[in-house]
Amino acid sequence: MAKTLGFVGMGIMGLPMSLNLLRAGFQITVFNRTAERCQDAAEAGATVAPTPRALAEASDIIFLMLTGPEAVDMVVFGPDGAAQALTPSMTVVNMSTVSPGYTRKLASRIEATGARFVDAPVSGSKKPAEDGTLVILAGGEETDIAELQPMFDVMGKRTVHCGPASHGAAMKMSINLLLGTMMAGLAEMLHFGGKNGLDVDTMLDVVMSGPLANGLFQLKEPMLRTNEFPTQFPAKHMAKDLKFVVDTAYESGASAPCAHQVLQLFSKAVAQGLSEEDFAAVAKIF
Ligand code: NAP
Repeated sequence: MAKTLGFVGMGIMGLPMSLNLLRAGFQITVFNRTAERCQDAAEAGATVAPTPRALAEASDIIFLMLTGPEAVDMVVFGPDGAAQALTPSMTVVNMSTVSPGYTRKLASRIEATGARFVDAPVSGSKKPAEDGTLVILAGGEETDIAELQPMFDVMGKRTVHCGPASHGAAMKMSINLLLGTMMAGLAEMLHFGGKNGLDVDTMLDVVMSGPLANGLFQLKEPMLRTNEFPTQFPAKHMAKDLKFVVDTAYESGASAPCAHQVLQLFSKAVAQGLSEEDFAAVAKIF
C-alpha cells in the first residue's frame, strides 16, 4: 500500500517542497503552527491536521522543515506533539537545519518510541526548493534512505548519503560555513574596493568574468547591484547556522577561526534589523 506522508512546516522551504510532493501524486497531511500558511497546500490537495499529533496519526512518514531545534522540539515533543502517536512502522525525517549534537539526541528520543529516524537537511534555497533541485544531505540507515528515495527524488536533484544519523547535519554545517564565508568575503571585497574608489558594478563585472565566478555569486549579484535583498535564505537563519557551526567546532575540537569571524558579522546583521532580508544583505553592515 502507498505510504502516507506528513509534512510539518509550510515556510519558505517546506511549502514548495510539499507542493512538489503533492504534484508528484503523494498523499500528504500538513501542519503549520500558523494555520493560515497551510492554505496553498490545502488548495493543492493536502489534508490539514489541527495538531502535529493528528498529523502523525495520519502518516507513515513525517517530514519536518522547521526553523531549528526549539521548533522541532515543540512539534515533536510539545503538547499534542507528533511523538505521542509514533509507532515502530513510522519514519521521522528531519530536513530542518540543526546541529549534529542536537540531531544525535533527537534520533535517540525518536528511536526510543520504536520509530525510525533519518536526518536530511538540504543544500539550496527557495528557488531549488520550488524547482525540486535541492541537494539532500542524508544521514541514517541505508534501507531507510532507500525507502525515502522516491520522495527525495521529487524534492531534490541529488541525494548524498553522508553516513549515520547526524552526518547529514555535519555536512550541512560544513556547507554553510563555506557559504557564510564566501558571502562575507564578497561583501568585504565590495566594501574594500568601494573605499578605494571602485564602483560595485565594475567590481562585480570583474569577479563574474574570471575564475571567481560561481553559482552563489551569480544568484546574489543582482541583489548586490541594486542593494535590494528579497529573501531566499534569511540572514537570521545564517546567523543561527553559524552558531551551530561554532558550537560543533568546540564539541569536536575543530579549528574554525573563519566561522567565529563570520558569525560575528551575521550576528551584527541581525542586531541591525536585517534578520528577514536575504543573507547577502550582510553587505549592508560594512
Ligand atoms: P521559515 O520560512 O522561517 O519557516 C520556518 C517554519 O518553522 C515555519 O513553518 C514556522 O511556523 C515554523 N516554526 C518556527 N518556530 C516554531 C515553533 N516554535 N513551533 C512550531 N513551528 C515553528 O524558514 P525556511 O526558510 O523555510 O527554513 C526552514 C529550515 O530550512 C531552517 O532550518 C533553515 O535553516 C533551513 N534552510 C533554509 C533555506 C532557505 O534558503 N530558506 C535553505 C536551506 C535550509 P510559523 O509559520 O508558524 O512561523
